[in-house]
Amino acid sequence: MSSFVDRAQLHAKAGDGGAGAVSFRREAHVDRGGPDGGSGGSGGDVWVVATTNQASLIGFRDHPHRRATDGGHGASKRKTGLTGSDLEVPVPVGTVIRDRSGDVVCDLPEDGDRWLVAKGGRGGRGNASFLSNRRRAPAFGEQGERGEEFWLTLELKLVADVAIVGFPNVGKSTLIASVSAAKPKIADYPFTTLEPHLGVVTIGGGAGFESTTDFVVADIPGLVEGAAEGKGLGHEFLRHIERARVLLILLDLAATGGVAPATQLAVLLDELGRYQPDLLDRPRLVVGSKSDLIADRDHDGAPIDLVISAVTGEGVRVLVGRLAEMVVQARSVAVPAARPAIVIHRPFPEQIAAQRLAPGVFEVIGRAAERAVGLSDLTDDQALDVVLARLRRLGVDRVLARAGARDGDEVRIADLEFTWYRYGPDSSLSPGGPPVEAGPRRRPRSTR
Ligand code: GDP
Ligand code: MG
Repeated sequence: MSSFVDRAQLHAKAGDGGAGAVSFRREAHVDRGGPDGGSGGSGGDVWVVATTNQASLIGFRDHPHRRATDGGHGASKRKTGLTGSDLEVPVPVGTVIRDRSGDVVCDLPEDGDRWLVAKGGRGGRGNASFLSNRRRAPAFGEQGERGEEFWLTLELKLVADVAIVGFPNVGKSTLIASVSAAKPKIADYPFTTLEPHLGVVTIGGGAGFESTTDFVVADIPGLVEGAAEGKGLGHEFLRHIERARVLLILLDLAATGGVAPATQLAVLLDELGRYQPDLLDRPRLVVGSKSDLIADRDHDGAPIDLVISAVTGEGVRVLVGRLAEMVVQARSVAVPAARPAIVIHRPFPEQIAAQRLAPGVFEVIGRAAERAVGLSDLTDDQALDVVLARLRRLGVDRVLARAGARDGDEVRIADLEFTWYRYGPDSSLSPGGPPVEAGPRRRPRSTR
């Protein structure tokens, strides 16, 4: 079945962890007391949460960036930094999320479905955490870990919440243009010349609705007598009506096409019922248009719920409010179309890997490796011992050897650079090693 597909990009950045503090107790008569630097707080996570209050991805079109807050830094007296707050990004129910390579990483078919997009960085430990019998006065702490950061593609098959049904020239397109804030980008629709117009109506919180609510209105063209038999394009468009939650039947009160309002209504209901009988049970609103053109308000006996004019604006605000109520009500009752049942939650890989940047120059990448070297002062011998032990445990030697690194090659991990030596079968790293000047150097933090 043909469908409208809405697409947008999301850039999610979780909060960075706060740095651990390096601090020593101040005591009377003691030059330097024990270490008392507290740990940094962890950064906030970014989640996506499916909600029925949104019906399109329009909010991401111009503002793709979503960021959770960073953790606070640790402080003296073992004070832990503040934890960054998580960020929940609301997306419409039915949103499918793809990674950069186009693979589906998650889909959110139900109201309330949540997925962790980007994990906040852990806070670094303060120097108080590095106190041991061998290390009486550790003068280094851990840096905060960076929060994860991803570009993702959001994709949504749009379901028209409201389908506007009416004879040609009754004012469907005009009405959509006057009530909708923006038009979603539409792809994959075969009839580019005659595509139904979609509009997104956004109602801010405060208009009697708890939070911002939006709904999609579709202008279904070409519905004329005989559409139910598949004449012209009518049939294609009827398929969109099938999934709409609310039907707006628009009648031209001025009968500019020569058909009286009551007759328009009778023909439309007949078409809908012949196409699919239960469409007649769908919540519907019968609205008379072009009220500015008529003097008498008798409407030829047609049972009209509301009268509007796109020219004077009469009744339009009331109409939008009524539609929003009906949509919210209909969403809480049932979902008209079957939704995919699978939810794929694929974690992003955490492994470490080595890659050759240039002859004799290698880079080790991966969160675990970056975490291992994230100490505040890598010129401190004790700090370096800690780093080396961590790297060894991670198997960095093996990864480098497999990537073709040889003794004396330069290795970069995050902002640490060192000369690599592998000693014997029981491998170990020698960052300083001869020659002495090849010891660890800090590189400016790369921005990724
Ligand atoms: P559609 O075929 O149902 O999409 O109808 P359109 O929105 O294209 O409108 C057909 C014509 O009716 C246009 O010339 C509009 O300017 C006019 N029209 C639409 N709404 C009103 C209205 O409320 N009052 C008046 N006077 N003209 C209207
Ligand atoms: Mg039109």
